[in-house]
Amino acid sequence: MLRLSTLALLACSVPALAQEINVYSHRQPELIQPLVDAFTAETGIAVNVAFVDKGMAERLQAEGDRSPADLVLTVDIARLLQIVEADVLQPVQSDVLEANIPAELRDPNDLWFGLTSRARIVYASKDRVAPGEVTTYEDLASDKWKGRLCTRSGLHDYNVALLGAMVVHHDEAYATTWAEGLKANLARKPDGGDRDQVKAIAAGECDIALGNTYYMGQMLADPEQVPAAESVNIVFPTFEAGGTHLNISGVAMTKSAPNRENALKFMEWLSGDTAQKIYAETNYEFPVKAGVERSELVKSWGEFTPDTTPLAAIAATRGAAVKIMETVNFDG
Ligand code: FE
Repeated sequence: MLRLSTLALLACSVPALAQEINVYSHRQPELIQPLVDAFTAETGIAVNVAFVDKGMAERLQAEGDRSPADLVLTVDIARLLQIVEADVLQPVQSDVLEANIPAELRDPNDLWFGLTSRARIVYASKDRVAPGEVTTYEDLASDKWKGRLCTRSGLHDYNVALLGAMVVHHDEAYATTWAEGLKANLARKPDGGDRDQVKAIAAGECDIALGNTYYMGQMLADPEQVPAAESVNIVFPTFEAGGTHLNISGVAMTKSAPNRENALKFMEWLSGDTAQKIYAETNYEFPVKAGVERSELVKSWGEFTPDTTPLAAIAATRGAAVKIMETVNFDG
């Protein structure tokens, strides 16, 4: 991984190396490196990755036309939307991207493209939750879960997107009542990340928790977290009139991309078979391209019906969803 200063230096001092692109990544270097290595081996195009933890949109705005970045890799529709709103992206028309990525997982205006998906599911205690007890997201607000539910902050992007999907499926009034019901069922105040909720189930503090699928893979890969992971089942709730809520990790091209042509090659390659397989095996996510298999572990969690609400529609409800979480004082 190169730091930005190194990137800028490279760009100035070695102009002969035209076969390279620069990527700002919010995703972990361990996940991106195998992809970069495979792409470079196949095409000869070098990929310089700068890991950007916070303030991606602000940084691109501040750099403006001088930004060395060609592409942005990030997780969650909310973060993609922030970058869209910063007006630092350019639309990309590509038959390959359109063929590989389902329409609901990319921007209708071609500004962002989903590369992997993850489901927001329920982790359920093997001991205290009966098979079939978890049904719909709507039902999570019912009395039967009183004192049995754990989750991270209601204002975290993952929960805001889920609530946004609830707004799309019903309306703001319904979603407000649902969020109130969810809050009333909490075993404790929202705290920690998704993995901490699984640990809380293992410790007997709650029976069910909201979480993203890939965290199960991460916990099973860490001997210390295996016992907690093995105390729960993954259950795929659905919306009453839909499927299981998905979010994405995605890619976008900057407005200033200095290496547009090669950057497009990398985008297209990331949506293709080789990269989709690497994604599936490295971070327990779902490939977006039809026909690419999930990892064995992910397959073992079972089949489910993905909700087909376009991510763009969910993104459009973000403001309303945040307001609802604040109105019901979800974390309070
Ligand atoms: Fe995450």
